[in-house]
Amino acid sequence: MHITVMGTGYVGLVVGAGLADFGLIVTCVDIDKDKINSLAEGKIPIFEPGLQDLVRRNVERRRLSFSTDIKHSIRNSLVIFVAVGTDMRQDGVADLSQIWSAADLIADSMEEYKVVVVKSSVPVGTAASLNARMRQSLSSRSPGTGASEFDVVSNPEFLREGSAVEDFFHPNRIVIGTASERAVAIAKDIYRPLYLIETPFVFTTWESAELTKYAANAFLALKVSFVNELANLCDAVGPNADVHVIAHSLGLDRRIGPKFLHPGPGFGGYCFPKDTRALIEAARSYGEEFRTVEAAVAVNDRQFLRVVDKVRKGLESLEGKVVAILGLSFKMNTDDVRESRSVKICEALLAENCSLRLFDPAGMAQARRVLKGDRVTFCSDSDEAVEGSDAVVIGTEWNEFRNLDLRRVKEHMRGDLLVDARNIFDIAKAKSVGFRYYGMGRGGGEQKVPALEQTAAENVLATTE
Ligand code: NAD
Repeated sequence: MHITVMGTGYVGLVVGAGLADFGLIVTCVDIDKDKINSLAEGKIPIFEPGLQDLVRRNVERRRLSFSTDIKHSIRNSLVIFVAVGTDMRQDGVADLSQIWSAADLIADSMEEYKVVVVKSSVPVGTAASLNARMRQSLSSRSPGTGASEFDVVSNPEFLREGSAVEDFFHPNRIVIGTASERAVAIAKDIYRPLYLIETPFVFTTWESAELTKYAANAFLALKVSFVNELANLCDAVGPNADVHVIAHSLGLDRRIGPKFLHPGPGFGGYCFPKDTRALIEAARSYGEEFRTVEAAVAVNDRQFLRVVDKVRKGLESLEGKVVAILGLSFKMNTDDVRESRSVKICEALLAENCSLRLFDPAGMAQARRVLKGDRVTFCSDSDEAVEGSDAVVIGTEWNEFRNLDLRRVKEHMRGDLLVDARNIFDIAKAKSVGFRYYGMGRGGGEQKVPALEQTAAENVLATTE
């Protein structure tokens, strides 16, 4: 079976390479010629564990290729996966322009039956509109062009950046939304290897499939904002309230579960911020309010400022101070800085006349595009970043930061403030080398956590990502 994946980004590239690994013949296409050219030369444009090997293996076995000749690829494929971007408009509504141009291109190019699989995250009603738009476009084509039937399938993607390859091969579920039996049979064929390992399959309508994706992200966003507010309350209560101990106890309740209960500077990345807003706006367009999600977004919009406040409090004034930020990507194991809270912290500190020394293990190239100016210094490692700084902020929970030699960090700094926005350090250890430590919801850093409870906290840490 020949497959085209339209949009070779974080999702399209992983899905394309993964489907090729199932033995299907896949062409990944994109309107970004540079991206396709570098992929054709064997260069992977994103940092994603395991992706390089997966791509190389399938290119070598001639099951995976890259092309900018989108029309040709569509014509040669039975199934077209649409994995283009669905950015957020200023008003929070999902911008579907990339979806519509992909749909127009498919309708323009097709000469026989196609299955159009919408992988992108889209508001409820998009598959129906796409179906109507393509039918309209095909019916206006002059007779004799060979244009024919097609089916639309809503098949949302749930993979997480940083573990995308693992998630593709071991998903929690596959959701297939369509009324067409023919398309269901083809989708089952495509995902047969997952069916064989007993992945749960949900067959449903376009609308339920579309809503499932936004609902999943919105629900996780609720958990994150909930635990962040709990952490803020712990900070206010003082030394004897530790959010990790509470989160651990919450997580032991099977109705709640331990995941996504790790406090920090708020959720970021490409998906959560835009998908929560898009769900709110989609609800509004149906005359409904989604107040729980509105609250989660409102909490999140302010949460990174808590980190800025801690730096301000610790340094008394931010004016002219030098702050090292370790970690710029929106979470560990990705180079993606889209909507990264760490970048937002940087922007807020720059606005208050701080100078920044920045380091991220993978996201430097992406961060350079968004953080600019004479007061921004990009450093080659964390040693260089902390040199001469008044404060160090942990912006992303990369494993390599967890094992930093805090004594050495302290020696290279001018000041003694450690703002651990990801709660990755042992408070007692940080204090023992002379740091003033501010975490998130760990009693403002003044608390001594007993050894046993610290272990419990680390269990929560280990299971949240
Ligand atoms: P991305 O920005 O990394 O990639 C989108 C790609 O589509 C770009 O390379 C762009 O050039 C290309 N494109 C745009 N219009 C095109 C067209 N007409 N034809 C061919 N290519 C075109 O985006 P992403 O992170 O891969 O996300 C894609 C979709 O998947 C979004 O809807 C997103 O919400 C959803 N999603 C993302 C993730 C994630 O973790 N990134 C997870 C699940 C779902």
